[in-house]
Amino acid sequence: MPSTTARKKEQSTSSDRPLALLQWYDRHRRRLPWRAAPGEASDPYRVWLSEIMLQQTTVKAVGPYFEKFVARWPDVTALGRASLDAVLRMWAGLGYYSRARNLHACAVAVMREHGGVFPDTEEGLRALPGIGPYTAAAIAAIAFDRRTMPVDGNIERVVSRLFAVEEELPQAKPLIQQLAATLLADSRAGDSAQALMDLGASICTPKKPACSLCPLNEDCTAGAQGTQETFPRKAPKKSGTLRRGAAFVVTRGDELLVQSRPEKGLLGGMTEVPGSDWLAGQDDATAKQQAPQLKGLSRWQRKVGVVTHVFTHFPLELVVYTAKVKVRTRAPEGMRWVPIATLADEALPNVMRKVIAHGLGL
Ligand code: SF4
Repeated sequence: MPSTTARKKEQSTSSDRPLALLQWYDRHRRRLPWRAAPGEASDPYRVWLSEIMLQQTTVKAVGPYFEKFVARWPDVTALGRASLDAVLRMWAGLGYYSRARNLHACAVAVMREHGGVFPDTEEGLRALPGIGPYTAAAIAAIAFDRRTMPVDGNIERVVSRLFAVEEELPQAKPLIQQLAATLLADSRAGDSAQALMDLGASICTPKKPACSLCPLNEDCTAGAQGTQETFPRKAPKKSGTLRRGAAFVVTRGDELLVQSRPEKGLLGGMTEVPGSDWLAGQDDATAKQQAPQLKGLSRWQRKVGVVTHVFTHFPLELVVYTAKVKVRTRAPEGMRWVPIATLADEALPNVMRKVIAHGLGL
């Protein structure tokens, strides 16, 4: 007579996986602000907005931003009518600002070219600004129930463990995509995808996955081998070279000197205090030579310590200098004074928030 475990194993075959996942999802789905209630149709605007915000950002960080956006711009046409500056300001702090510019461009395109209605195919969605293959698949599946499986980091982890995929990422992506597609149920494609995302986020976590609670644990290769945490296999990371520079915090009474970064490039269009170039191997003296020139400026004071920040491709270290000028001193060309009390309204990236806090001792 077969043992209970063996019997369970016989019962849980690979063809059961999509169903087991959906049953688990119906009981344990996460409540997320952008997610439709069970049985309700998804709103493509909310799905799209959340997917763009969630790129390289956590659910926890996105939540408040998502609520602020939908309260101010309840549909894609309202967002398309907003100014880019207003969108960047609302986005400030969420990082990876090219997403905010693409978000706005996409809303404008949907409003002007599609009458305010999102295309309902992956192909149509991919033609829009800021929507790559993953996001197109996610929106198509979740908002329009198209039979496609978007593969994010959570799904990559679950699938690579379930099938013990030995190939390293990123080369393993096509194989993982193929295997993930086998987990799609015949209907409810969006729920299949969200079930896998939730499973990865809550049970099949990077460290110490809770395999005993997993609906796929009878049928998981890495789980059976006890090698879960070694998947997905990854090629060792190359970190970028450290760049160094200086930032100049100049105050005029209770105002701060700022400028806008060029529209194109890193942190395009965002607000910053004047600063030097950010270069590998730059010494402090060279960076300081790029300080702004203002009439009647007090001596530059170097703040103790440095501000560090890690961008996707490189870590950055900034020395912060402070100085004061007299009331009525004019801002150099291209720069402006803003009241320190209203800095929260500026589109300040996180690195600049750190610089200003360090410079002003906030
Ligand atoms: S059994 Fe464990 S390792 Fe396998 S999919 Fe479930 S949680 Fe992940």
